[in-house]
Amino acid sequence: MDAYKSFFRRCKEKKAGKKVKAGFPRYRNFVSSLTYPQSRGFKAGRKKVSLSKIGSVNFVDHREIEGQAKTCTIKKTKSGEWHITIAVEKEDIIPFTNGKEAVGIDLGINKYAALSDASIFQNKHIQKKEKRKMKRLQRIISRRKKGSHKRRKAVLNFSRKYEHIARIREDHLHKLSYNLVHSYSFIAYEELKIENMMKNHRLARSIGEESWGNFTRMLQYKAESAGCVVVGVNPKDTTKTCSNCGNIQNMPLSERTYNCQRCGMSKDRDINASINILHKATTSGQGGGHASGDIVRPQLQEANVAERGTIHGVSR
Ligand SMILES: [Zn+2]
Repeated sequence: MDAYKSFFRRCKEKKAGKKVKAGFPRYRNFVSSLTYPQSRGFKAGRKKVSLSKIGSVNFVDHREIEGQAKTCTIKKTKSGEWHITIAVEKEDIIPFTNGKEAVGIDLGINKYAALSDASIFQNKHIQKKEKRKMKRLQRIISRRKKGSHKRRKAVLNFSRKYEHIARIREDHLHKLSYNLVHSYSFIAYEELKIENMMKNHRLARSIGEESWGNFTRMLQYKAESAGCVVVGVNPKDTTKTCSNCGNIQNMPLSERTYNCQRCGMSKDRDINASINILHKATTSGQGGGHASGDIVRPQLQEANVAERGTIHGVSR
């Protein structure tokens, strides 16, 4: 709105006798996002949407529209693609449980996810070739003169590549989260303080790539319709605690195996942590990872009752 402020300022100045041109504000990128709220102004069909003031537009649909279309948002990405999002209202899904096991999940850098039942999911590695391409496109931008047409074109090329790689990552996370909520009835994860970890520059890059926050959000919203409950727990001491006897010892990053100095348990560092995460979610107060799970938070009770045996079975 600054453009308008300046416009009115110029109008005033002109009235006051100053020699200025009022000049109606001009926009270069006049619209990059547009929302039609409350089911008005748009009509969505299969592969086609008609928008008031714009007309009929074809689009590639990823799934059929179920329920009542409520809002429609059109957005332009940096690479110049237009994306359309149609939010729908559906009848409430009746909560149920899929009757599978409970699991704790430790999100990491070396392995994307380590589970308390000892399964491991690797990170999606973007091919070196793709990374090299992105670097090259970035170098081209820095060689171009600021404000030049060629630079704008180079930025566009880079954005296209960047969005392509981001889509590959996101696709991987969608598939992984979908798999998890359908394979388990209860998933506990660590609520990571990403701002804190970003201060550590060595880790920052990988964390940005991993986008754990994005992943746990995916788990959350996919869970209900899959009959799964997803909870976050306080990350305090999940790595340092022995999942067998509750001993707490220091665990420098270089130590990949938890060797307990008290009970002698030896377990993969991340799997040990994921068992503690599950313990925390199923015991009240989220205090010690070794508590035996007498009090279960009420909303989790249903999901856990059947799984108690498994939880303890895993830890030994
Ligand atoms: Zn121990």
